[in-house]
Amino acid sequence: MKTMLTGIQSTGTPHLGNILGVIIPSIKITNKLKNASFLFIADLHALIQQKILKLETIKNNTYQITAAWLAFGLNTKKNILYRQSDVSEVTELAWYFNCFFPYKRLTLAHSFKNEKKNNYKKINVGLFTYPILMAADILLYNAEIIPVGKDQLQHIEITRNIANRFNKKIGKKLFLLPKAFMKKDTMSITGIDGKKMSKSKKNWINIFTSDEILKKQIMSIHTDNKSYYEKKNPYNDSIMSLYKLIAPIDRVENMKKKYLQGKYGYLEAKKALYEEIIKKFYVERKKFFSFIENKSLLDRILFLGAKKAKDIANKRLQYIRKSLKLI
Ligand code: ATP
Ligand code: MG
Repeated sequence: MKTMLTGIQSTGTPHLGNILGVIIPSIKITNKLKNASFLFIADLHALIQQKILKLETIKNNTYQITAAWLAFGLNTKKNILYRQSDVSEVTELAWYFNCFFPYKRLTLAHSFKNEKKNNYKKINVGLFTYPILMAADILLYNAEIIPVGKDQLQHIEITRNIANRFNKKIGKKLFLLPKAFMKKDTMSITGIDGKKMSKSKKNWINIFTSDEILKKQIMSIHTDNKSYYEKKNPYNDSIMSLYKLIAPIDRVENMKKKYLQGKYGYLEAKKALYEEIIKKFYVERKKFFSFIENKSLLDRILFLGAKKAKDIANKRLQYIRKSLKLI
């Protein structure tokens, strides 16, 4: 039986990209698996972005992510929901990987290459070694099913590479090779500016906010400047691509027709998208706001999750230390 693991950085409140790309599909998988899945809130990863993120927001973001998982119905009795920094074993494993992975190979990671291009002086070492910590997140529990967005594909490849190198060096199959799980239509949800929706870019649609703010975000989705009367392209349009993922098929077909016919403005399309989002996530939004008010419950869930994860991590690490002949 394979194990599933996925993580969300505590850099903000989960947005529609995180929800459609990772949260909903992950919960479906956890319900199919007999064994526990691992879901963690990546606050150590979030620290990398401290230049743009106020440190005092990380803990609050952790609560927001916890409440989001619960609002979407994650079963925390069966599965393990934990804060990354509560299981410090992961940083020890990351160190071992650092010592076995070639520097040159890591310089090819997109996360580093892209930042380097823009902002070389502002890069911290954490950003450079981020894929190594991510490999440790996964391999510590020998997870094989990793629901992620498209932006993480390369990091999963690096993780497989690390596992392979380590296994060869040690001479046994210490680590299983993980695989990314993603679906074509949800692996890269576009934000209001037409680029990948990201917490750090704030180009999000955030359902865990007031109706007014949510509406404002949807009204800010970039479109071309075709007038109300003109025919529009439903196949290359941010409103339509979100609407398709949220509305029932008959309403999607209807909107598509209106796009192709003309006499249908983007404003109307945005209003329709807003209505659909409000309807679709009515229960989850209600649940989220009630969980977020109950910090002691969230603390208890995270505490129990950390305890379970730490127990497993500790045993695994002991075995890895032995395999490395450290003890
Ligand atoms: P940040 O801007 O801080 O990196 P983020 O919005 O990219 O935040 P992460 O916490 O980095 O979110 O990612 C959590 C998971 O959600 C990852 O598996 C990532 O691939 C996935 N994900 C992030 N954004 C999207 C998106 N727009 N569409 C689909 N999946 C996404
Ligand atoms: Mg990200």
